[in-house]
Amino acid sequence: MSALPFLIGDRWVIGSGEPIRSINPADGSLNAEVSTAGAAEVDAAVNVAAKAQRERAWRVMRPHERARLLYRVAELITAGAEDLARRQMRENGKVIAECRAQVASAAAVFRYYAGLCETLGSEVTPSRGPYWSMTVYEPAGVVAAITPWNSPLTMEAQKLAPALAAGNAVVLKPSEVTPTVGLELGRLCLEAGFPPGIVNVLAGTGAETGMPLVRHCGVRMVAFTGGTSAGRAIALAAAERLVPVVLELGGKSPHIVFADANIERAIGSIIDGIFVSTGQSCVAGSRLFVEKPVFDKVLSRLVERTRGLKVGMPDSADSMIGPLATFPHRERVERHVAAARDDGGELIVGGTRPDAPELARGAFYQPTIVVGLSNRARACQEEIFGPILCVLPFENEADLIAQANDTVYGLACGIWTPDYQKAWRVARAIEAGTVWINTYKQLSISTPFGGFKESGIGREKGVGGMRLYQLAKSIYWGLGGPLPETAP
Ligand code: NAD
Repeated sequence: MSALPFLIGDRWVIGSGEPIRSINPADGSLNAEVSTAGAAEVDAAVNVAAKAQRERAWRVMRPHERARLLYRVAELITAGAEDLARRQMRENGKVIAECRAQVASAAAVFRYYAGLCETLGSEVTPSRGPYWSMTVYEPAGVVAAITPWNSPLTMEAQKLAPALAAGNAVVLKPSEVTPTVGLELGRLCLEAGFPPGIVNVLAGTGAETGMPLVRHCGVRMVAFTGGTSAGRAIALAAAERLVPVVLELGGKSPHIVFADANIERAIGSIIDGIFVSTGQSCVAGSRLFVEKPVFDKVLSRLVERTRGLKVGMPDSADSMIGPLATFPHRERVERHVAAARDDGGELIVGGTRPDAPELARGAFYQPTIVVGLSNRARACQEEIFGPILCVLPFENEADLIAQANDTVYGLACGIWTPDYQKAWRVARAIEAGTVWINTYKQLSISTPFGGFKESGIGREKGVGGMRLYQLAKSIYWGLGGPLPETAP
């Protein structure tokens, strides 16, 4: 099998790096070999992007024309929906229904930023002297976008669409686990009519391709989604060059059930919150806090429902849980489970690979529930990124808030109670970028998303998600009157 090329300008290029192998985690088969970019191709891609970004054709393109291109990408994504969904499924093992939903969501992201691109304007700012002033927004320049494997369709759309709407050129470096989704999105952008060089896609690892990209002197901004340790390395490299970063990082989100909650509704959301995507979701509700009077009741319902979850091949319509995304990742998850056991945790469901013979060749793992740990235990502090739910009791609101906030992360939180005053108090006290009350994992492209603490810096989505990729420039027009004695 010859290695697939990647995209620089309008050329499909074979790079100087070691090819990567995209493996289907459902059965261990080879999806594709993909050529990777070394330092020379990173340099070429950034130079091509910088040139294209400065070209008149792109620089003066009117917002409604840029919007038309973004709408066209949305149409092409929709037209190629099944191919994109299956591509992602083969690369990261997500069940097909979720992959299809993510294709629809990626198209919606392009439409949202197309709309915003047409309607978001400059601002006249209030005059405080003999001048007239306005603020205009200019593109940052070349944006390096680096993405993870767990939801490449949506993560890549969430970076490409606003960065392009804002007038930038993008060099996208998708995860080495899921390279072909990003390559296909790049191809669709070219087909939609973006000028060559405005969207470039480099395949490769973080060390060989990602870091040289972040360090390249032509990159004016870095948008990263991934783990906290890679995010920290990228922030340090960006700090040396003083370029802005937006970082969407890991989580260890608390999901909270008060004794007065509608337990049946909560159970469904708790299960989805941790086990959908086989737990490989940044907002997974991986620490479940249950108020003591209902602890046993909630636990027994959870155990019953979890035992009924079907682990199966991702292309089967009745599978609820597919494989983990890679075989090495399954080994990491297993090490976390062993640590939970060593720390005194009791595994009351799961804790092993499934024994069904038809799943033996894949990276499958059973949905697992652990009790008996303290919130300080490793399994409650480290992001496992697998189908592992730790269930912990709490005494009262103060005890809950102390435990829930006792983590380096701060991405999301779920609260179940009909008492709106209590829900409000707890929502305000929890250190997290997103709080759900009597729901979980509802996400909207128009609502800002991001993390507190080590879960990230900056907010994607919404109007601010486009402003992220722009630089505000304030322009004053003197009106000729006397200047005030002190600056107001
Ligand atoms: P990862 O950090 O290992 O890799 C993410 C991307 O960064 C990949 O493209 C990788 O090649 C690249 N990379 C890694 N090290 C790098 C370096 N030093 N320099 C430049 N690039 C580098 O993460 P992953 O395993 O692909 O994804 C899982 C992680 O992503 C989890 O921690 C999850 O919580 C997080 N995530 C966060 C969000 C969010 O919105 N907050 C969304 C999805 C996933």
